[in-house]
Amino acid sequence: MSAASLDGRRCWIFDMDGTLTVPIHDFEAIRAALGLPLGLPILESLLELPAAAAEEKRRRLSVIELELARAAEAAPGAEALLAALRRRGDRLGILTRNSRANAGLTLETCGLAGYFPEADRVTRDDGPPKPAPAGIHLLLGRWDGRPDQAVMLGDFRFDLEAGRAAGCATVHVEAGGRFRWPELADRCVRRLDELLPL
Ligand SMILES: [Mg+2]
Repeated sequence: MSAASLDGRRCWIFDMDGTLTVPIHDFEAIRAALGLPLGLPILESLLELPAAAAEEKRRRLSVIELELARAAEAAPGAEALLAALRRRGDRLGILTRNSRANAGLTLETCGLAGYFPEADRVTRDDGPPKPAPAGIHLLLGRWDGRPDQAVMLGDFRFDLEAGRAAGCATVHVEAGGRFRWPELADRCVRRLDELLPL
């Protein structure tokens, strides 16, 4: 399959943590702290637990995520790309497995909140999390956009899988350049500003 082109795409949906921000989430350490199975996605593991246990771990997860949100820093090159896309009049959205409250704090802390109106932030409080494509469909519905006009960008497999499932172009963003899922990505970049000039 040949890579989908990014030309002419006007709807840009970003993963937040580790894509717009410098990666600091050690999910394996979070799983260990919460007593969840290692190597398995956190939100899905919580769904397997009895309600009371899940609730207690969700509270602790929020505390951990809040600490990380307070330390958020914009990834190098993120603001340059966002500013260029906004100048062009493109749509900019967030699709994150983080909570709405922590997404807001993260974006404020790293200085990127102004690029993403509240209505264009889709979080785990708004519907099924990635890799489900529901959040992409939700944003495109609000924007009156189509998947073939959209790009999903992220640093993890779930971001790319969600983009693929929705029929969008996908960009894998990973500062280390390891790019472990080439079959899921139309472009691989170490920094978001590698996508300039558009
Ligand atoms: Mg991420």
